[in-house]
Amino acid sequence: MTANYAATMTFITRFAPSPTGYLHLGHAFSALTAFDAAQADGGGFILRIEDIDHTRCRPHFEAAIYEDLAWLGLTWPEPVLRQSEHISDYQESLEALRALGVVYPDHRTRKAQVEAALSAPQGEAADSTVETTDTPAWRLSLEAAQSVLGPRYDTLSFQEVLFRPGRHSARPEVNGDVVLGRKDIGIAYHLAVVIDDARQGVTDIVRGHDLFDATHTQVLLQALLGLPTPRYHHHALLLDEQGRRLAKRKGSKSLRDYRLEGVAAKEIKMMLSIATKTQST
Ligand code: GLU
Repeated sequence: MTANYAATMTFITRFAPSPTGYLHLGHAFSALTAFDAAQADGGGFILRIEDIDHTRCRPHFEAAIYEDLAWLGLTWPEPVLRQSEHISDYQESLEALRALGVVYPDHRTRKAQVEAALSAPQGEAADSTVETTDTPAWRLSLEAAQSVLGPRYDTLSFQEVLFRPGRHSARPEVNGDVVLGRKDIGIAYHLAVVIDDARQGVTDIVRGHDLFDATHTQVLLQALLGLPTPRYHHHALLLDEQGRRLAKRKGSKSLRDYRLEGVAAKEIKMMLSIATKTQST
């Protein structure tokens, strides 16, 4: 059980997929990297289902996650935390941030927000001519966070083990005033992920380096919510022969397809080790 992990182990990591599609080789690589790191350290591996976005998550994708990972030989403690069952916890934390004065409402439509983000630096004042809606999105105010944390704001940092190893200063400015409460589902990824990493006692986050920049914002949220900052291991992304990300490759084959075709899990592991040996990290 997760709670026992927290009490007895010094290395606890997790794989946290969103059931918005079938897993492919890039996910297998990420899950196996996390699982192997936990095994090597005598630590724990947690599977978490990040399904806050009910508009995109589907039960058959979630079922396939369990089947594919078990097929790859991974094991994890039950019950698996499904974020959709904990929405009120994330809402409470958003409420706590609101009480701290570090979030503000953004009444622009999602489309207008995306357009503004593309044409101007994030966090700029809203243009009063843009389309608005009644239910706002809630954004983290970096300016307010800075005044709440005082000098501590500039000392926030995290330890990175794989990607540019060393201690990094947190620079939440790279992401700007991110949305913590989406107007459609009430909450958002950055908030749910830091709450769950803390409550599950995750000491080491192993994930692709496409999420390296997200860490800057997440470290700030940990500070604001009084949560510990784990160590981070951002692994290289699996690329195809053209150097494109496998996960993003159009029509890239799902693990489920390989499995149903009768490919053995050990052949997948072989393909992954060949792919990683032929590319630099
Ligand atoms: N749920 C996220 C995704 O599927 C991963 C979150 C994380 O590893 O921090 O991309």
